[in-house]
Amino acid sequence: MINSGSSVTQTDEAGCTPLHWAAAKGHLAAVKLLLDHAPEAVNIKAKSGNTPVVLAKQNNSKEVYHFLTNSRTSQSILSLLSSCATNLYARLFLWPAVYIPILVFILSRFSWYISLACALLILFLSTRLVSKSGKQARNSIMMGTFLWSHCYSIAIYKARILPFTYAELWWFHIPFYILNLGFYECYRRLVFEDPGYLEFSPSDSSIMIQDLKSGANFNRYCATCLTYRPYRSKHCPECGKCVLKMDHHCPFTGNCVGAGNLGLFYLNLSLYMISDLSFFWLCTSFSVIRGYTTGGIPLLDYFWILSEKEPILWGMLCWHILHFTWLTGLWIQQTYQIVTNLTSNETYNYKRYDYLKDPATGSYYNPYNKSIVENIHEAFFESPKEILAKTREFPVKPENFYVDRYSYLPTNADKKSYSMKEL
Ligand SMILES: [Zn+2]
Ligand SMILES: [Zn+2]
Repeated sequence: MINSGSSVTQTDEAGCTPLHWAAAKGHLAAVKLLLDHAPEAVNIKAKSGNTPVVLAKQNNSKEVYHFLTNSRTSQSILSLLSSCATNLYARLFLWPAVYIPILVFILSRFSWYISLACALLILFLSTRLVSKSGKQARNSIMMGTFLWSHCYSIAIYKARILPFTYAELWWFHIPFYILNLGFYECYRRLVFEDPGYLEFSPSDSSIMIQDLKSGANFNRYCATCLTYRPYRSKHCPECGKCVLKMDHHCPFTGNCVGAGNLGLFYLNLSLYMISDLSFFWLCTSFSVIRGYTTGGIPLLDYFWILSEKEPILWGMLCWHILHFTWLTGLWIQQTYQIVTNLTSNETYNYKRYDYLKDPATGSYYNPYNKSIVENIHEAFFESPKEILAKTREFPVKPENFYVDRYSYLPTNADKKSYSMKEL
């Protein structure tokens, strides 16, 4: 209706705008959509004198209430930083800036079980903050955790490691510096660039009307974005938009990962892991250069020596190891998905999608999985436009589709299925 030119600020007999109704019903996606088209609607009072904010509060719509009181909070880092004094999500974004140094300090001064108890307490407090403030709060805390972790580790690196090791390890510091710059550039793009949002096109409306007439399957039409969803696309409730070849919504960037940035996301993940490993290597070299050890000892010994001699640096290293551990799992999963041309959404929800079912047997199969080279090419080099063209129509099962049951890498390449006798 909005795209057809209907007024967003039109009132009913009670003086309520569509925004009053959306706020009262707690429909966050509708609230965002309406505010995108008429920001001024947030201040309109109904005949009762109530604004949409008051109605959201009266009806206990927490997420809508926080969204409206923070006047269209953007989840971008810049807007969070610029509104720290007044904005709830911005304050949650700052929360990791407080708890990370406290945790590192406790880790460096006290025993591991006191540190673990404190870490669990911080986790509990963060979970309480998120459950009290709504889903968007989770993004703010996680983006903060990610960014502040890096800021503190860079500060410690510059204060402790760099001054003592630059002369001997300059050849390592220069690529390490470039790697970190590359990492931040990737991260900036992941936060601010379009992950492959599907835009409304007038032709979608006419297709929708034809479908309504003919009684065709209406599932592919997104009632929020007013757009047709190609296969593999999904509506993201946090971004409020449909994303082409949606992989997942990343709480660390506050943005989706989809057809437009999957390759960039993988690159960013890989750079983060290399950066973590480099940090660990720098710590061991630092121990030798400072004379804490003569070198050539088991890796674990460096770790304990550092905990005695440089507790703060050691605390930061533990933080890096923690991140590296869970990122390794994510990296393995993403690598597998890229080489098999599968999204995270499809991995977890494959039973929901007809296009991932073999038309003959109903069992799982992935029609988008070509050769490994083609799959990697699609993830890193194909534009959203090309992926859109590939996913518009229901995929046809290729002839001679071959499934390698041992590697779980199906391919429609010209392979022949051999029987045991032939082999
Ligand atoms: Zn949508
Ligand atoms: Zn999203």
